[in-house]
Amino acid sequence: MHYFSENESQTNENNYHYMLRIAIQSKGRLSEDALKLLAEADIKLEAGKRTLLVQASNFPLEVLYLRDDDIPQSVAKGFADIGIVGENEVCERNEDVEIVSRLGFSKCRLSLAIPKNANYTGLKWFDGRKIATSYPNILTGFLKKHGIHAKIHVITGSVEISPGIGLADGIFDIVSSGGTLVSNNLREVEVILKSEALLIGNRNMEEAKRRILEDMLFRFEAVRSAQDKKYVMMNAPKEKLHKIIEVLPGIKSPTVIPLADEQWCSIHTVLDEKRFWEIIGKLKDLGAQGILVMPIEKIIQ
Ligand code: ATP
Ligand code: MG
Repeated sequence: MHYFSENESQTNENNYHYMLRIAIQSKGRLSEDALKLLAEADIKLEAGKRTLLVQASNFPLEVLYLRDDDIPQSVAKGFADIGIVGENEVCERNEDVEIVSRLGFSKCRLSLAIPKNANYTGLKWFDGRKIATSYPNILTGFLKKHGIHAKIHVITGSVEISPGIGLADGIFDIVSSGGTLVSNNLREVEVILKSEALLIGNRNMEEAKRRILEDMLFRFEAVRSAQDKKYVMMNAPKEKLHKIIEVLPGIKSPTVIPLADEQWCSIHTVLDEKRFWEIIGKLKDLGAQGILVMPIEKIIQ
């Protein structure tokens, strides 16, 4: 089946005959950033409408709101074509999905933690002990690999209180700042998995849907490449122009615009935020003035 009829352009939104379905967490730590990503890619969803399935008004995408636990399976089975979910859930559910892209937000880790005053002697400490977790599959695999025989107590929430109430000796749970551990008198002793939000996809996605996905990824990439960049404009004495250009690592070469005062010109370029202060310092030393710095929304390469 053809996605576009002959002579139709892929960029014409009205010509999409297929709809890509994305599963997103309905509420929780992933949902806000996932929706932000769609918004930044100019994919518009009806605000406030939180029915299970919502169609975008200007892109062939529909959003299926689910609990994050259900996202890997929905994508594997094809109820959704793609999904945004934590790597921790993807590993735990062990569903056969494609990892389309790593999204860089919702960073956290899965760690083993024990009461803060316990005398930790290495992984052997867990031998014969009881560990509470919502991630039994990942934990079982890890313990097996290291030859540790521990009992696993599966609990779906408030894992961190288990040692305090005598339900377990240690826990295996999500850690980000570590604040929850500290307030429960626990200490992180082993990091087992580092996690971030992933865009996952069904392995048997139809070609037409894959092309919509590529359009969406192209938009994400434009947003991402702009994220740590600034648009910088400055006035500079013309005689210093060559030296200034040497200092600037712009996208290609900087734009130079003449000014009414013939001794001066205006230079526009894009700077990486990481090297920003170092470069601005050099520019000032070379006589640049009136430096304006602006955020960039998107960069299309
Ligand atoms: P649901 O009701 O959808 O099952 P949940 O309670 O299982 O939600 P959340 O607490 O909303 O899950 O977390 C969703 C995901 O966000 C986690 O699986 C993890 O990948 C990530 N995450 C969890 N805690 C943090 C944190 N403190 N910082 C950043 N990311 C986190
Ligand atoms: Mg969940």
